[in-house]
Amino acid sequence: MSVRITLLALVLLFCASAGAQVPIHRFTSNAAWNVNSWVLESDSGLVLIDGQMLRGDATRLAGFLASFEKPLAAVVITHPHPDHFMGLSVLRDRFGKFPIYATEQTAAGLLAARDMYMSWAPASYGDEVISELVEIDNTFTGELTIEAAGFTLNAYDFGMGEGAGHAVVYHSESKSLFTGDVVMAHSHHYVGEGRSALMIKQLQRLKSDFPHTNLIYAGHGDPVRLTMVDDHIAYITFVREQAAKLLSDPTNVVDDALTPEAQQAFAANVIARYPSLADYGLPTTMLMGMNLGGLVKELAAEKP
Ligand SMILES: [Zn+2]
Repeated sequence: MSVRITLLALVLLFCASAGAQVPIHRFTSNAAWNVNSWVLESDSGLVLIDGQMLRGDATRLAGFLASFEKPLAAVVITHPHPDHFMGLSVLRDRFGKFPIYATEQTAAGLLAARDMYMSWAPASYGDEVISELVEIDNTFTGELTIEAAGFTLNAYDFGMGEGAGHAVVYHSESKSLFTGDVVMAHSHHYVGEGRSALMIKQLQRLKSDFPHTNLIYAGHGDPVRLTMVDDHIAYITFVREQAAKLLSDPTNVVDDALTPEAQQAFAANVIARYPSLADYGLPTTMLMGMNLGGLVKELAAEKP
């Protein structure tokens, strides 16, 4: 009897520390850089974090959402990269109008992100490409409480980083943190937009603002613990240092650009240091080239 009571106490203690259990479902694309859409399910409805990119994926996501036979109460778009929002029109055509939340910066960045996407995507993805933009009807700065499907979600404006605007959403009852691409679980980070210093600040803010997080549900990859954030800070610091080191050697620089040999050295060093990280299905050296381009621009702008 006493053993049973002790076990019960342990289970209760575990539940209290892990947070209340809430069904959180995942839809992941293979074709669109392994991007995740997360679905919080309550008795009365669903909340969706991020809306996919390609027509087939968005259609399958719509079917997945419909399978719950519950209303889609709200959608949050974490940041203005096409893999997180270009599928929205397929969802709207299937479910009608639903509230969509994003930061002001994210909403303001959608048009440019769509136009950039349309400049290359049709050649790669053909009929899978969706060009229609869906308007964000709920934008915010600072903080916003979202009440939807019986959930109370706290959304925070994390400013620019990997993309030109980021929201992070916390469900305090289950201690679940939805970060979009502020966290990049088990993959090389994308620093091609030249905001690696801001990305480190965002990661530090995650640690200080959400110390009780049970699991982080990121824009790509499996759910991870908050301690993963330290690995991310180390990664971004490492690639910054690698780029700075190459730039500091004049033999590596021709016409303000790194030589092909220096670019290859950057890719080789990062891959050698982080051999187990994935790459969203892109050629890893292509990702390294995009990242180095962003870092070179950023480091040049940081010079006094
Ligand atoms: Zn992404």
